Amino acid sequence: MKAEYHQSGLLIVVSGPSGVGKGTVCTALRKRLPNLAYSVSATTRQPRAGERDGVNYFFKTRAEFEQMIQNDELIEWAEYVGNYYGTPRKYVEDTLASGKDIVLEIEVQGAYQVKEAFPDGVFIFLVPPSMDDLRTRILHRGSETTSSLENRLGAAKDEYQHIHRYDYVVINDEVQKACDRVEAVLLAEHCRADRL
Ligand code: 5GP
Repeated sequence: MKAEYHQSGLLIVVSGPSGVGKGTVCTALRKRLPNLAYSVSATTRQPRAGERDGVNYFFKTRAEFEQMIQNDELIEWAEYVGNYYGTPRKYVEDTLASGKDIVLEIEVQGAYQVKEAFPDGVFIFLVPPSMDDLRTRILHRGSETTSSLENRLGAAKDEYQHIHRYDYVVINDEVQKACDRVEAVLLAEHCRADRL
């Protein structure tokens, strides 16, 4: 028997259709788990009202983003509804090396790339109770034009095709309940014998 158990940090990926509430669930989770680090992505999309550079995203021009790809500064990147999104490499690698858990809130193409690079990651897909519910949530966010809303709903349907590649599916019916479920997943993952 080992005298001491040491665990490295978990890399946690949370995906799910745009508007499902990934951001809200991750924010609530970080309040509960202050040691959980959060990866801030780079994107070429325009900031929404209230979003801040370096907090919600690192907002980049397409040229800047393409330079980051060239420099291998991103663990993964994808084009989603006409914009680039990607995960900066250094912060993720430094956080895991320090033994802390880190959560990446990314779409499915990026999640595939992360799975290749980090097969021990924990892959969670967040779903709404229904598609009608999702439409209502995106409309309430008020940031989309009609065509952008339809694009995002179309993208959501495509994303569902990839659900079987994830380890866990969590319903976001209520934020605190969804957080309970994700927290239970993380607790179980930390107790897995093959991680010791
Ligand atoms: P939004 O524009 O609504 O903030 O994000 C659109 C989609 O891009 C969401 O599914 C979000 O999770 C995803 N996303 C955000 N950051 C990243 C990233 O770094 N990489 C990838 N692949 N997707 C991301």
